[in-house]
Amino acid sequence: MIVDCHCHAGKGDGLTGPWDTDAPLGDYLRRAAAAGIGRTIVFPAFHSNYARANAELARIVAAHPRRLWGFAMVHPASDRGHVTEMIATAVERYGFRGIKVHRHDAPITREVCEAARTWRIPILYDITGDVAAIELLAKEYPEVNFIIPHLGSFADDWRAQLGVTDHLVRHPNVYADTSGVRRFDMLLQAVRRAGARKILFGSDGPWLHPAVEMAKVHALRLPAHEERLILGGNVLRLIGTPHRREPTNGRERRAAAAAYAA
Ligand SMILES: [Zn+2]
Repeated sequence: MIVDCHCHAGKGDGLTGPWDTDAPLGDYLRRAAAAGIGRTIVFPAFHSNYARANAELARIVAAHPRRLWGFAMVHPASDRGHVTEMIATAVERYGFRGIKVHRHDAPITREVCEAARTWRIPILYDITGDVAAIELLAKEYPEVNFIIPHLGSFADDWRAQLGVTDHLVRHPNVYADTSGVRRFDMLLQAVRRAGARKILFGSDGPWLHPAVEMAKVHALRLPAHEERLILGGNVLRLIGTPHRREPTNGRERRAAAAAYAA
């Protein structure tokens, strides 16, 4: 099955650009179906209240149960102290399969990584070029899988994409998605050096066209089994079925207890 690992859905509450205003899925869903995409992972647009945005996303996912899977979005700074509880709600009540964090909101925190570890779900973290952060994440949280969208930079930062490729090679728990990557040879280099197991097809829909983005994957001209990994096999392996990991120390137990008390 072909899975698009990166798409936005729902209303933002800003008015800066499409990214914080609205991510309507109508055209996307038609285009994805025509491109043979079986499932799409969706997360909210930028929002000032991600508890509300995640709840809206849950309604959108519920309206397309055979097409969509949800990832919860959290703001590492303004949701501080509530992340565990938000992720518990997202996984248990909404059936979400991962977490999305954007450094434009705030840099990722231990609280977010620990929630991902607790629920055994991946984090799609847009580093906006802050490549060095990956070193800390990968080593401090070896049980958590991190997906770095746009190979590290939607803004075509060649240095960042080159740096992310190094991390893909070195860290078993670091992955990247193909969405919005324009420099095709950077993508080709990432696959050659890190292997097809480390790259995930993503479109950055609804703002980018899923078939246009998928054409890049076909253009890699990989053996069929490697192309299948990028087009869906890898992300299916990473999202698995979320299930609670039993707390292994006092700090994790207290966090878990607090989440359930909330
Ligand atoms: Zn995006």
